[in-house]
Amino acid sequence: MEKLTPVGRFAPTPSGRMHLGNVFAALVAWLSVRSKNGEMVLRMEDLDTQRTSAEFAETLRGDLAWMGLDYDREQVPQSQRSAAYDGYFEILRDKGLLYPCYCTRSQLHGVNAPHLSDGTYVYPGTCRNLTDPPKNRQPSWRVMVTDKVWTVEDRVQGHYELNLATDCGDMVVRRADGVYVYQLAVTVDDGEAGVTEVVRGMDLLSSAPRQMYLQELFGFAHPEYGHVPMLMAEDGRRLSKRDRDLDLGELQKRITPEQLIGNLAYAAGLIDIQVPISARELACEFSWERLRKTDIYINQQKFY
Ligand SMILES: [Zn+2]
Repeated sequence: MEKLTPVGRFAPTPSGRMHLGNVFAALVAWLSVRSKNGEMVLRMEDLDTQRTSAEFAETLRGDLAWMGLDYDREQVPQSQRSAAYDGYFEILRDKGLLYPCYCTRSQLHGVNAPHLSDGTYVYPGTCRNLTDPPKNRQPSWRVMVTDKVWTVEDRVQGHYELNLATDCGDMVVRRADGVYVYQLAVTVDDGEAGVTEVVRGMDLLSSAPRQMYLQELFGFAHPEYGHVPMLMAEDGRRLSKRDRDLDLGELQKRITPEQLIGNLAYAAGLIDIQVPISARELACEFSWERLRKTDIYINQQKFY
């Protein structure tokens, strides 16, 4: 049998400069694929057209180039793909799995609604058998989930399980304003691009079972998953977009791409000595086994 070429992806949201956490996830995604001579795909996740812009998308392309993280092709941005997503929406309808949901936000986030540690509310199926739907409102659309445990064997997080019926409930796939949700768009885009490995931040781990369910319904193979640890400040705070002096625009004024990559690689356990290193050199010695599995503490002084 012919060996499958690994295909990975960058999937940034063009809503601002990349911060250190985004840079780290992008670096590991690239290293994993390039160390196996695989292909990289870039995709702009701009479903939220209020917060995203073509200018930020262009800046992101420049930022990836500055770090030496190249890619082989770019997909059509998600904001221009709603006709394609319509086709997958119809697949769900044909399977009899879709129904309209008229619940208001306050109904969904009612005081008694149980929720997961990641903050998601379990939808109790209120609108599954609605006999008298309200006529003056556009509904969102949900896909029914089944009582089944989905298992992710994650390259970093190890064994992870989720039962969509009890941990999530029927999922919204299209909002009342007609915009498709992240889970559907990502599943379709990864599937059509032939992505074989998804590498992203640990905060998206619970999305993997949701996407695996949609992959199965759409007939896509499941990719491998690697959810990389979060980057933490030394005081134990998670680094985020709010740390403006650690966004790539500010970092580029102070350090070289090799210094940036060397600092991250050392903090993540990928190299033994903290030295400047290019992405290309680092790919030669990359292995998932070396990557730290738990929160990665960043000495911020090293980025000045
Ligand atoms: Zn509902």
